[in-house]
Amino acid sequence: TPGVRPLIAGNWKMHGTLAEATALAQGVAAGAGGAAELLVCPSFPHLSAVKMAMAGSAIGLGAQDCHAKPKGAHTGDVSAAMLKDVGASHVILGHSERRADHGESDAEVKAKTEAALAEGLTPVVCVGESEAQRLAGEAEAVVAGQLGGSLPEGFARAGGVVAYEPVWAIGTGRTPTEEDVAAMHARIRAELVRAFGPAGEGLRILYGGSVKPGNAKAILALPHVDGALVGGASLVAADFLAIAAAV
Ligand code: PEP
Repeated sequence: TPGVRPLIAGNWKMHGTLAEATALAQGVAAGAGGAAELLVCPSFPHLSAVKMAMAGSAIGLGAQDCHAKPKGAHTGDVSAAMLKDVGASHVILGHSERRADHGESDAEVKAKTEAALAEGLTPVVCVGESEAQRLAGEAEAVVAGQLGGSLPEGFARAGGVVAYEPVWAIGTGRTPTEEDVAAMHARIRAELVRAFGPAGEGLRILYGGSVKPGNAKAILALPHVDGALVGGASLVAADFLAIAAAV
């Protein structure tokens, strides 16, 4: 999107030791530069160490979830304020793995997104259809519904990020056709503008799902693709940096 700086975000999921996360962060920081903004999203126990390992760099730090409430009796959960306090700038919300593993609904994702906004964190809200939904011709309607249910009112004002991640493309090595990615991103843009007015024009829409150095250039060149959310390939610094360099 013209005038929008691309964002390349790495979702490290539930991988690695503290030493590995720190080394990965150092590797990314050492090679950072170029047109894209970078963001890495380690697991909760590694956030502080990764922050320190990237000190002096402009790379953002994101978490992979937060609770909808600011504090309280929620064993095992982490608040947006805690994330902010350890130096996070972003938080991934509504990832399909959380929607599947933890039954997160659009309403819950919306509440979490509101909590993130209240703490000044930039939410990266994930949406995407299942393979059955795509085959049934429902992909765009499903994603439009997820957007309508998951994005709160203040989302655009705060520069929130949307990540389109078709569930069947995550970790599978399969990707939609370029035409399908472009069509979905155009639909997401239209939904954002419908919901938020002109502010929706400048919001970033990331593509996620089996992005690799080999396919990044073609995907990132598509209209309304303003960056990528990268899983597997973000665990190797050179691959993540190669994807960033494809912007
Ligand atoms: C993800 O889950 O955010 C993702 C895009 O994973 P992968 O790149 O491994 O498909």
